This record gives sequence, C-alpha cells and structure tokens, in this order.
Amino acid sequence: MAELNEVESFLQALLRPEAFKDYGPNGLQVEGRGRVRRIASGVTASRAFIDAAITAGADALIVHHGLFWRGQDGRLTGWLKERVKRLMAHDINLFAYHLPLDAHAEFGNNAQLGLRLQWRADARFGEQDLGFIGDAGPGDAGTNADELAARIAAVLQRAPLLLRGDGRPLRRVAWCSGGAQGYFEAAIAAGADAFVTGEISEPQAHLAAETGVAFLACGHHATERYGAPAVAAEVARQFGLEHVFIDIANPA
Ligand SMILES: [Zn+2]
Repeated sequence: MAELNEVESFLQALLRPEAFKDYGPNGLQVEGRGRVRRIASGVTASRAFIDAAITAGADALIVHHGLFWRGQDGRLTGWLKERVKRLMAHDINLFAYHLPLDAHAEFGNNAQLGLRLQWRADARFGEQDLGFIGDAGPGDAGTNADELAARIAAVLQRAPLLLRGDGRPLRRVAWCSGGAQGYFEAAIAAGADAFVTGEISEPQAHLAAETGVAFLACGHHATERYGAPAVAAEVARQFGLEHVFIDIANPA
C-alpha cells in the first residue's frame, strides 16, 4: 500500500513533465482514492481498458494516452463521460504521461522499443529530442530494410508497412514511437539508414524514394506498448505494489 501523493511525486520526479511542451496535461488526470495497492498500465485510457482495470481490481492506472487533449472543448459528455464516470464510480486514479513517457531514457516507449529490437541510442534528434538514433543492433548486422521489416514483424507481432528506400545495408537506425512520421526528415538529416515509427502519412513515401532511406510504419499502438508497463513496474517495485499490464488489441 502506498500513499497517492508519494506515487505522484515519484512519477513526476521520474518523468519530469515540466521539461516538455505537450498536447495535454501530464500527471494525475483523475484523482481517486488516497491509497494505492494495485496498478494497471496500458497504452490508452479507453473504455475497454478502464473496464478491464476495474475487473482487475486496480486503484491506479498509468497510461500513455490519457483523457484530455488540446482542442477538446472540456465537456464531459458522450464517450468521455462514460470513461470518467467509470473512474469516479470506482474511485480510481488515472495517471497519464504522453511525451515524457516517449522520451525517458530507460523506461520510455522509445527506450523500451529499442531494447526489444536490440538498439541502443547514442544520440537524439528532432523536436524536443524525442527521436532516438544508434548503430544497427546485432540482429541487423549486414541486413537491409526488408530483413529489418521481417524482424520487426516477429518482435511486435504485427507486419510493418515498409518503404524500402534504396535497399542499402543498415548501419544507423533511427526510431520514434507512435505518430512520429513527421520526424522522418530529421532522422534522415541525423544520418539514419532506416527510420522506424508507428504511423505513415503521404509525404514519407516520396522522401523514402528520393533519399534512399527506408521508412517503416510499425503501428502506433504496437510501438507504444512498452513504456507504460515499464514505468508502472518501476513504481510497483519502488513501493511494493501489485502491477498488471492490460493490452487492449488495436490494429493501428
Ligand atoms: Zn501515441
């Protein structure tokens, strides 16, 4: 059992949201009971995730995508009301960390994705230094983007959309989880032979063809499954709490 304010202080000190310009509020988004026993982590505070966390008996949730985003008008109606109502009815705390959770050098989405693909960043690039870049890992030695796509499909259990560039051997690999397709140009400028992210938009196809750098869209959800449970496990370890990761399948 831990006091809520101790858990909150620990998370804030770990993830340092004050260092980021973000699209929504980071930290405690919905306040529930003052003591925490069991944490549930997940990618998004969707209704399905909240329902599963209630069933699991969680009293604090740690997610990457919270409830409130820039551009919303603030009304708790419709689907948003349904999510908030469930949290309030069960006195559940909701912690959400967006960019701070992508960026954290050990527990963040990018670091944890790199861990699974055997990549270690030796530099950062792009806006707010969210992009990670490093030498291709042992699994990529002497291979090209086609082989990398097959390896990612096996690791993430989801086939990426591949723009293979010019088929060059991979020496430097750059990555940024989620909807970071806009970081492709910065990844190219940073010297990447391949850039791995979650989503793709129209311009990246041309850039891959014209620069020869491979682009792999590996799924927004699929690339952001690892940060929240890594942080939650660290909180659980710190305070002796229970932790369960709940993955709500998402094709995106
Ligand atoms: Zn995301």
